[in-house]
Amino acid sequence: MNHGIDPHRLAALPQGPGVYIFKGQGTLPLYIGKSVNIRSRVMSHLRAADEANMVAQTRDIEFIETAGELGALLLESRMIKAQSPLFNQRLRRTRRLCSIRLCDANKSTVLEIVDSKKVNLGLTPKLFGLFSSTHSAKKKLNELAQLNGLCKSILGLEKTSTRGCFGLQIKTCLGACIGKEDRQLHDERLLSALKDLQVEVWPFNGAVELIEEHNGWVQKHRVNNWCHLETWCSKIGRASQFNALDTQEFDRDSYHILVKPILLQTVKVQAC
Ligand SMILES: [Zn+2]
Repeated sequence: MNHGIDPHRLAALPQGPGVYIFKGQGTLPLYIGKSVNIRSRVMSHLRAADEANMVAQTRDIEFIETAGELGALLLESRMIKAQSPLFNQRLRRTRRLCSIRLCDANKSTVLEIVDSKKVNLGLTPKLFGLFSSTHSAKKKLNELAQLNGLCKSILGLEKTSTRGCFGLQIKTCLGACIGKEDRQLHDERLLSALKDLQVEVWPFNGAVELIEEHNGWVQKHRVNNWCHLETWCSKIGRASQFNALDTQEFDRDSYHILVKPILLQTVKVQAC
């Protein structure tokens, strides 16, 4: 192990969940990570050959304990966004997100690309995918069209013509645009192609608290519409003060952190 970190500091690292911070010479962190076992995760960084550069620059390692994995994930995401450490992949807080919305029109499915500035993404049904731009939403649709023999004209990616779409000529479209393929079959294929991208609608009526307990202490994460609002902690007897994050805005990272534990009910939920 080639590092200048005080072994006493390493020995003091807890073996429970939380966030750890690799600190270099300055005040800015080099790297922020999370784990259910802070000590063993930090040790594995110190042993990783491809992280030797970061480890060599590390002077100290700090940590913040959480009552559970969810708290660690939420805190890590906030800290990385606020501090952009050198060795973390940039987690950018995308101000604007796009999604694909399906609507029914005359028994067939049409889709449009919607914008988080106009549509509340956590509360709107039939949304698929969270993209940082209209361009990337269309790119995804193009891929799905290619893979599933869908019609790009019907998907709104190409201008409609009476002779059918371009894909028909090169045989990537099965012909839904000219009635050669049943439109319903096309739309069913579209639905199953989009299925994995479905954005779940916030399942509660307003905010709830997600409760995590560990060794006799409790954290309550208040969340609404897939947004993390604050965390109350029994150790300090109040909610942590988070700064610089607009709390009500739909956030893609928080959504991804929260969606499984909430839908699979692996976390204790309390109305608030
Ligand atoms: Zn077509």
